[in-house]
Amino acid sequence: MGEDMEKGWDISQAMIESNRCLLCYDPPCSKGCPAGTEPAIFIRKLRMKNITGAIRAIKERNILGGVCGAICPTSLLCEKECVAANFDRPIRIGKIQRALVEHSWKIGFYPLSKYYENKKDNLGKKDKIKVAIVGGGPAGISCAYELAKFGISVTIFEEHEKIGGALRYLIPSHRLSNDFIERETSELASMGIEIKCSKKIKRDDLKSLFEKGYVAVFLAPGLWKGVRLENRAVKGVYSAHDFLYSLKEKPQKMKKIVYGKKVGVIGGGAVALDCAEACLIHGAKDVYLIYRRSFGQMLSEENERICALRKGVHFLMLNQPTGYLLDENGKLAKIKLCRTELGKEDKSGRRAPVEVKGSDWELEVDLAIEAIGSQVDDDVKEIHPDIKFEKNLIVVNKRKETSANSIFAGGDITRGPGLVAEAIRDGKEAARNILEEIKKSECEEKVVLASVSPRRC
Ligand code: SF4
Repeated sequence: MGEDMEKGWDISQAMIESNRCLLCYDPPCSKGCPAGTEPAIFIRKLRMKNITGAIRAIKERNILGGVCGAICPTSLLCEKECVAANFDRPIRIGKIQRALVEHSWKIGFYPLSKYYENKKDNLGKKDKIKVAIVGGGPAGISCAYELAKFGISVTIFEEHEKIGGALRYLIPSHRLSNDFIERETSELASMGIEIKCSKKIKRDDLKSLFEKGYVAVFLAPGLWKGVRLENRAVKGVYSAHDFLYSLKEKPQKMKKIVYGKKVGVIGGGAVALDCAEACLIHGAKDVYLIYRRSFGQMLSEENERICALRKGVHFLMLNQPTGYLLDENGKLAKIKLCRTELGKEDKSGRRAPVEVKGSDWELEVDLAIEAIGSQVDDDVKEIHPDIKFEKNLIVVNKRKETSANSIFAGGDITRGPGLVAEAIRDGKEAARNILEEIKKSECEEKVVLASVSPRRC
C-alpha cells in the first residue's frame, strides 16, 4: 500500500464496462448525481465508441468530473440508482468517469480550453461584468466555470497557495494527488478565469470589491476548523484538519510523527477513514477507528469501510471517547472510553448511542486524531456585517443569496461538511442565480450575455 494515488481504470476497461449499460430511457443514474454530470450521456457516447464526445460531455457539465469520478461515494449516489443492479451489479460509473478524464490528459484532449480560447471574442463584453469568487474549492471553481461560460469576467480569491480547497489540502494523496487536481483545473485560466492565490478576503475587502466594480460575490470559503473533543491543546492530539493539512504540506515531518505509533482515530465518516488509512500508509503500528455508533451506521461507503478493515484498521465500534489521559510530560498517553449501546432513533433516523454505565476503559495510544466535524473560522463570521449566520453557518435562501445585497454563498459554509458533488451543485446554482440578477440589472441594457457551450458531438 503506497502513498501514491490509487490507480484508476484505463480506457479499454471503461469501454468494456460501458457495454453493460442498458441505455435507459429517463435514466435514474443521472438523477442520482448531485453535481448534474448526467452519467447516462457520457456512458452512451462511450458505448458508441465516441470517446472525445464522452469526455466533452463530462467536462461540459462538471469542471471537476475527474475528481468526482475518483472520490465521490458513487455507491450512495448515481450507482445506487443504476437499473443494471436489478440484473447483476450497477455500472461502475465513477470508474468510467475518472478513466475518461484521465484519458483526455493522456491524449492531450482539453475540450474546454481549446474551445473557449477560440471563442473569447464572442463571449459578450467580458470586461464589463465582473464577479468575485471567495474560495477556490469545488463550489468556487464550479461557480467560476459556469459564469465564465457566459462571458462573465471572474476572479477567484483563494487564501491558500493553490486552488482546490479541501480537495487539495484535506484529502490524502493516496485518494487524490495534487497532480490530479492541477490537471483537472488546468483549463480554468485558458477560459479567462483569473486566479489570485494567497489572498485572504477580510471584512473590508468585500466592500472594496464592489467599489472596484464587481457586481456580485460568491462566498465559498469552506470550513477549515475542526470540532474538538476537549477545549485544551494536548500534545499528540490533532484535529483531522490539522493532521491531513500537515500530511499534504509537510509529509516528511508527519511521516516521522506517525511511523511506528499506536493511533486512535475518532469518528465514523469518510474523513476518519482517510486519516486511518493515511496513518497505516505512513507506517503506524496500530490504527484504531473509534466510533460511538455501529459499523452499519457509519457515514461512509460500505466498500471503503471493508477496504479499510482489510488494510488492517482496527474498528472499535460502540465506543464513546470521553477524554484523554496524559503522561508526566503532558503528552497523550491514553484515550478514555466508555462502551455504548443503541437506543431509540434520533433526528438522523438512526438509533442513538447510549452510554453503558460502569463500562469505562482506557486505550493506550501515542497519537489521537479527532475527525468529529468541521466549523467556521472566527474571522469568516465577521466577513460582512449584513451576512446572517445560524448555528455557525451562513444562512442562504433557495437562490443561494445571503442576507447581504449581491452576496451569494454555497458549499460547506452554508450547510456543514458535505460531498464534493454537493459543493459543485451549489456553485452551479449560485452561478445561475447570479446570471439572472445580472440580466435583471441595468447591465442588461449595456451587455449581451453570450451563452457558449463546447461543440456537441
Ligand atoms: S441507470 Fe445504469 S444502466 Fe441505466 S443508463 Fe444509467 S448507467 Fe446505464
